[in-house]
Amino acid sequence: MAEKYLTRSFDPAGPRSFKTYADTGGYSGARKALAEMTPAMVMGEVKAAHLRGRGGAGFPAGLKWGFIPQASPAPKYLCVNADEGEPGTFKDRYILAHDPHLLLEGVVIVSYAVGIHKAYVYVRGEYEELARRLEEAISEAVSQGALGENIFGSGFSLNVLVHRGAGAYICGEETALLESLEGYRGQPRLKPPFPASVGLFGNSTVINNVETLANLPGIILHGADWFLGLGKPKDGGTRLYSVSGSVVKPGVYELPTGTSLREIIFTHAGGLAPGRTLKAVIPGGLSSAILLPGEIDVAMDCDSLAAAGSMIGSAGIIVIDDGVSMKTVLDRVTKFYAHESCGQCTPCRVGTSWIRRIVRRMNGGGRRADDLDRIARLAEAMKGRTFCPFGDAAALPVLALIGKFRTELEG
Ligand code: SF4
Repeated sequence: MAEKYLTRSFDPAGPRSFKTYADTGGYSGARKALAEMTPAMVMGEVKAAHLRGRGGAGFPAGLKWGFIPQASPAPKYLCVNADEGEPGTFKDRYILAHDPHLLLEGVVIVSYAVGIHKAYVYVRGEYEELARRLEEAISEAVSQGALGENIFGSGFSLNVLVHRGAGAYICGEETALLESLEGYRGQPRLKPPFPASVGLFGNSTVINNVETLANLPGIILHGADWFLGLGKPKDGGTRLYSVSGSVVKPGVYELPTGTSLREIIFTHAGGLAPGRTLKAVIPGGLSSAILLPGEIDVAMDCDSLAAAGSMIGSAGIIVIDDGVSMKTVLDRVTKFYAHESCGQCTPCRVGTSWIRRIVRRMNGGGRRADDLDRIARLAEAMKGRTFCPFGDAAALPVLALIGKFRTELEG
């Protein structure tokens, strides 16, 4: 069995308290960083570990932190992205539900490395109970000297606040998250400037996903080489794969980065129900291009999925068997994106709703001969022409579905 790190001490009975977390070595990474390392050493270790973001884009975390102007006296902020709106993805909630202190320890480490004294955790609106548990964990950590003033007697101070979103998918996009956090409508900002230079309240801001930060205690405690040894040379560590759909054992599986998609589905998630055959797999959340059964011997890491014409995204694996109609899949995909478009730019606002209307008409029995070509043209017109990556995210799954299942969709 492959080595686990993130979930090694999860307790199915509920979230671990500060005491149970600390009793199993918790906060040792933060203590080590604060007592034995300079901020530059912490950043150097994370860069060497090739920790790539677990939220979707896969950008190296250490590199991202390096864009923050260290010399500036202006306040800097950390925003933890706990919005987790990507359909098929439910792994950040797993960390929040079982081990909120693992996230909080990561928050202390990144804040120390970058010189941040105020952090916000932006929690998806629907995660009401998890937000409450996180607030309890923060109070506990403050009372034990792990957050707040003079953490572990190091002289370093950090305040952490929880902010609940209102349930909009687009608020998982980092600049829409910032707008929402500032009290405005959650719509993406034009980039550049990037949040590293102009972020929350106009100040330099680091934005990282929950799972990304949960990896930091291990990297600091055991070193970059240990982390790289768990995964791939340029994509270290393990990942939390959310597996749903037509499998016997849906759930969250912690496995090395680069584990084959086939192994995750058939060895760990129990394969398909008896008598069923595999029809397709969405490998990285709904925004990733669908793969055929002959394409699932791919390694689940950023580069391998990109080479296979898809993306690892949030590692949310949706398995589809032969009992599922691809017309239904197209219907669900287009309904979701038309509903979640923030409406700020024309290609996305109009494109997603036109596509949606055509699909509804097709599935209602009013199909015209050129409908799929028309949908493909609309999707192509969104690609690369929108204000934020949502346009591509809405277009790519639709194009992949038409490209791989045209005959069924036309039937
Ligand atoms: Fe909003 Fe879509 Fe434009 Fe992004 S691409 S800003 S979600 S309308």
